[in-house]
Amino acid sequence: MLPEEFIEQLTLSLGPERAGEVFSYIQYTQPSVAVRANPFKVSDVESLSFLPFDTERGTYSQWGRFLTSRPEFALDPLFHAGAYYVQEASSMYLERIMPLMAEMRQARPDGAFKVLDLCAAPGGKTTHLLSMLREIPGSFLVSNEVIRTRAAVLCENVSKWGAANVVVTNNDPADFAALPGYFDVMVVDAPCSGEGMFRKDPEAVAQWSEDNVRLCAARQHRILSDVLPALRPGGLLVYSTCTFNHYEDEDNVAWLVSEYGFEVLEQKHFYPGDEMAGEGFFFSLLRKGGGGDMPVFSNASKSRGGRSGGSAAYRPFGSLDWVRDGFTVYRKGPMLKAFPGQVAEAMQAFELSSGLRVMMSGSAVAEVKDGNRGKLLVLPQYSLIQSEVYRRGSLPEIEVPLETALACLRLGPVVLRDAPAGYVVLTYSPEAVPFGLVKNLGSRCNNLLPSSIRLRQI
Ligand code: SAM
Repeated sequence: MLPEEFIEQLTLSLGPERAGEVFSYIQYTQPSVAVRANPFKVSDVESLSFLPFDTERGTYSQWGRFLTSRPEFALDPLFHAGAYYVQEASSMYLERIMPLMAEMRQARPDGAFKVLDLCAAPGGKTTHLLSMLREIPGSFLVSNEVIRTRAAVLCENVSKWGAANVVVTNNDPADFAALPGYFDVMVVDAPCSGEGMFRKDPEAVAQWSEDNVRLCAARQHRILSDVLPALRPGGLLVYSTCTFNHYEDEDNVAWLVSEYGFEVLEQKHFYPGDEMAGEGFFFSLLRKGGGGDMPVFSNASKSRGGRSGGSAAYRPFGSLDWVRDGFTVYRKGPMLKAFPGQVAEAMQAFELSSGLRVMMSGSAVAEVKDGNRGKLLVLPQYSLIQSEVYRRGSLPEIEVPLETALACLRLGPVVLRDAPAGYVVLTYSPEAVPFGLVKNLGSRCNNLLPSSIRLRQI
């Protein structure tokens, strides 16, 4: 049963006929299922022929496709390998900003192009942005989530996607006030009353109330006003929700225009049943007014924790055979991390000077330890083989069948009789995507898969 006040509100905004259609889609049809391929890991990103499931039409994303039904993703090793992301199809409309970002970058080719995803967990928009930024050299993404446990899940999904030009932070939107005018593009996919999730999630219906809509609208105001100073004049803002009501959607956009002088480039609702849409979604794209450059990092280095600027904490390490050309390896404490050469310094300066709580940055590729007779041991990390920085074939790779792949993902015993001793990367086909890293001891393997991401029995 849909809440009466919700029915009244939507009927008022859409008219009885259109609203009636939307209500019947919500009540009498199944949620659609869509996935988005990972261009860092697979080559057939158009038809997604590597999927062991039936696909149908395309989505708003060049990398996305609808599936004919919802499979058990957890039993597909390519899902764990990050070959694709399961994402609500309407959200893929975000790709609309890709040509605009590319244009902005061309107009300002110097320095790093900086994008913020403010409300990022579990990582749908972040992984999508990273695929887009792959085609915009010299860019990096700050992916933020305020709730700690959700930020941990975000880190897992970001590692799995494999891009190295990303910093994950765990901060309140107000903390970004220390970075005036820093970002070129900002995505605020705000927490909302979730009317667009009614078909998929009965809990969203149960929790809906008019009071909660007002509370959400007030919270969205606060989030936006806290973070907006960090967007540079002329920068792009995407403000989106998965709800339909005007309090959280159009009214907030109108307030951005009247209060902050934003220009609306586009705003659009998506409803269940629309051709390319999945669940309900509201998307708005705005440009910040004003001109001239604002100071960057004006008060960031004297912010919390006495952390100083500069990248003294990072020391160049020299080349590492496992890391592809174009990425630079640095040592920070016992960790070796790889960054895209073009933005390495900008990312490190951000990490060390922004005063934000950074949970990960770049790709952790190895740990160094003192070995015998003063020798330095360099031990590869699991995140190496998840990352775009990994040079394919620099470690022995073997392709394994489904049963072995699932055993490895469950952290069960793995024996590789014909593989060489030492570190071995396990891959899974059709696209031979790396998903496992083991140390082969002959009679058994030590599995380097972190237990936090192991496949639990289903
Ligand atoms: N963008 C994500 C994606 O595509 O996967 C979904 C984001 S979800 C709609 C909204 C996120 O905002 C949640 O992860 C939630 O934890 C976070 N959030 C909740 N309260 C917040 C607040 N006061 N400020 C910033 N973010 C908040």
